Amino acid sequence: MINPHYGNIPPSYLFSEVAARVSAYQDAHPDERVLRLGIGDVTRPLAPAVVDALHDAVAEQASGESFRGYGPEQGYAFLRDAIVAGEYAPIGTAIAADEIFVGDGSKTDTAGVQELFAADATIAVSDPVYPVYVDSNALAGRLGEFVDGRWEQLTYLECTAENGYVPALPEAPVDLVYLCSPNNPTGTSLSRADLERWVAWARENNAIILFDVAYRAFVTDPTVPRSIYEIEGADEVAIEFGSFSKTAGFTGLRCSWTVVPKALTRDGASLHAMWSRRHATKFNGTPYIVQRGAEAVYSEAGREQVQADIDYYLRNAGLIRDALRGAGIDTVGGVDSPYVWFRCPAGLDSWAFFDVLLNEAQVVGTPGVGFGPAGEDHFRLSAFGTYEDTLEAVARISSLVPTLHSTT
Ligand code: PLP
Repeated sequence: MINPHYGNIPPSYLFSEVAARVSAYQDAHPDERVLRLGIGDVTRPLAPAVVDALHDAVAEQASGESFRGYGPEQGYAFLRDAIVAGEYAPIGTAIAADEIFVGDGSKTDTAGVQELFAADATIAVSDPVYPVYVDSNALAGRLGEFVDGRWEQLTYLECTAENGYVPALPEAPVDLVYLCSPNNPTGTSLSRADLERWVAWARENNAIILFDVAYRAFVTDPTVPRSIYEIEGADEVAIEFGSFSKTAGFTGLRCSWTVVPKALTRDGASLHAMWSRRHATKFNGTPYIVQRGAEAVYSEAGREQVQADIDYYLRNAGLIRDALRGAGIDTVGGVDSPYVWFRCPAGLDSWAFFDVLLNEAQVVGTPGVGFGPAGEDHFRLSAFGTYEDTLEAVARISSLVPTLHSTT
């Protein structure tokens, strides 16, 4: 009677285990100041332009004349237009407003998209990976059994130091591949040449790319594509997911968008029509107030304020990267991304390094193994803390790492 696949999925253990170890340490050492570089959540408050727009929208909701109830499920035209004008037109992509679907977060959208595909659709993900892509397909029964830390029917595209943490094309055909650039957790991004290879592969293999650009606002390198639709022909093979969470601090407000181009069809069916139907069936729209807040991200003041916050986090990322490199650790990420990724020093595995960092330097990071088997022996540090805490944390890490090397 019940969905048996819930029984197959391992508990999501990473962040609860991190929290348990930190709280045990803090209980035993109440006077130590623990610095958190493990978080994937933002810490800067909302931009003033967004806050003003939220207040205005609340006032509208308070008056009988301007009150709005249910809105269009796909999102208000003012926001769909603003997303096109702010995200797609400037990079020369011909995405139309009615190809944008406003949602309440990319977690919801990337988890929900699998419903458009057959129960036996085959899946590839890069490894390490944002776990939602994997778990949503596991719950739908597409991945088989979870044995020795791996799903039997999932294709893992390993991202290692050897391949520059860039996923290689699958060796055998798959129907769907999830890609994320700039990447969580590795912080690496796919170049134009990489994306051209992926789009050509998808076209040849009749596959669909599910492309997550939650961190696109962090791209500083002008040669790095901010959207898969910068690649010719991608509109026939790709769905793209964008989010206001990391761009503009909307992790608590909740607003995202999904692009499903009208040119994307399979087996005679329009994926755009299918997503439209699915969205309207299961979703009653992102709150009006929140959509007005998101629209304000694209105002002149909003853009400047949001960019200042991105720059703030990127400065932290630079501190982390420079400190690790100064300590002789090779890192990736932290340039076009708030995440820095590296192999743990002194041959430690990711949980052992987590413990050393917590116990010896009172700094919390995220063990790489929590993102997939290829994350073993790796670690993620996040730039979403305050500048002062990041500065203090990197000073502690810089003192700690040489002592680790000297003990091996
Ligand atoms: N995609 C990636 C790669 C993420 O890292 C996250 C959040 O950490 C999300 C999507 C989810 O973002 P949202 O807050 O829009 O649900």
